[in-house]
Amino acid sequence: MKKTRDPRTVAASNGVATDQTFGAVAPPLYLTSTFAFAGFERSRGHEYTRTSNPTRDLLADTLARLEGGAGAVATSSGTAAVDLLLSQLRPRDLVLAPHDCYGGTYRLLAARREREQLDVAFVDQGDETALAAALGRRPKLVLIETPSNPLMRVVDIRALAERAKAVGSQVAVDNTFLSPALQRPIALGADFVVHSTTKYLNGHSDVVGGAVIAAARSDAEALSAWANIVGTTGAPFDAYQTLRGLRTLFPRVERQQKNAMAVATLLAQHPLVAAVYYPGLESHPTHAIARSQQDGFGAMLSFELKGGVDAVRRFVEAVEIFTLAESLGGVESLVAHPATMTHAGMGAKARRAAGISDSLIRLSVGLEAEADLIADIERGLAAVDAPARAGGA
Ligand code: PLP
Repeated sequence: MKKTRDPRTVAASNGVATDQTFGAVAPPLYLTSTFAFAGFERSRGHEYTRTSNPTRDLLADTLARLEGGAGAVATSSGTAAVDLLLSQLRPRDLVLAPHDCYGGTYRLLAARREREQLDVAFVDQGDETALAAALGRRPKLVLIETPSNPLMRVVDIRALAERAKAVGSQVAVDNTFLSPALQRPIALGADFVVHSTTKYLNGHSDVVGGAVIAAARSDAEALSAWANIVGTTGAPFDAYQTLRGLRTLFPRVERQQKNAMAVATLLAQHPLVAAVYYPGLESHPTHAIARSQQDGFGAMLSFELKGGVDAVRRFVEAVEIFTLAESLGGVESLVAHPATMTHAGMGAKARRAAGISDSLIRLSVGLEAEADLIADIERGLAAVDAPARAGGA
């Protein structure tokens, strides 16, 4: 029976100094596809890495402990983690998904519906009428992404989980944007947590990976068995890297969200900025829910520039520290244009319905010095301002 420890301690030390062979402090990387049997019909506990591997199992165990679940499966990507969850459904089962979910999740759900492998209702989970109507269709799975990507809308997990359960649905929360350092959905009533470990959990932009954590042991076992059947389990090297990153999860996230608050505050006061979406701002429509269910506001934010796509281009071309790239959650700051990058796969109509305009810019705020980040944002905004000034002169 494992002792209950503070999550900070779990993140920093789960599996550390447990090597029985040489006493290695860093948990070893078992870079092997197969394991020798001790003798005929005598497995040593691991037989083949698709099924189980000590390095990947340590990552799954650490994530299960951080999220407060009974078990976890570490997959080859966050998308594979979402798909692993969907694999448990039957053709007529309904998934109630956010209309503004991550573009790849949207594409995956739409593609599986197209093949008649499930049904899906994309719903604005903040629209009471639409939500009640969709729950009335008795979904089998309610997928929540909070804060949402890229508009940072916050959904009340506890309230929606209660309503979902009342109609016989399980609930999964994509916790990629906050990580268990800032939000633990299982304690709020979720049956599953999904992660793109590519993001904050690994935190160094050098691994693509994912995980599903289940609240119930039976669900964890079913997912684990299915991951082996279809072969979506993650690679040991990726698990090793992710464990390495995970040990600094808490201090990274704490520092990054301080930087994000400084950037959001600057943007909110700037005349060229039409709107800022950051749940840490009191002006954010779902600030109160964020405050009640999160331990912090995270380091993701988005904003709209006055001046449309031309202004967006000027901004992203002028900034020097924020790199124009997809993805998020690494130690380095990134800037993305959802309409042409992360959410291009959704199509213009679905983007419009979700409120993702062509003037929207998304920032993943990193660990750089706050003053340098602020100066960089000011540099970007000055470039947006330049033609307006030239025109007016
Ligand atoms: N969920 C969210 C919220 C994401 O932002 C992403 C990727 O950006 C994914 C899932 C998919 O993860 P991956 O890219 O690791 O497949």
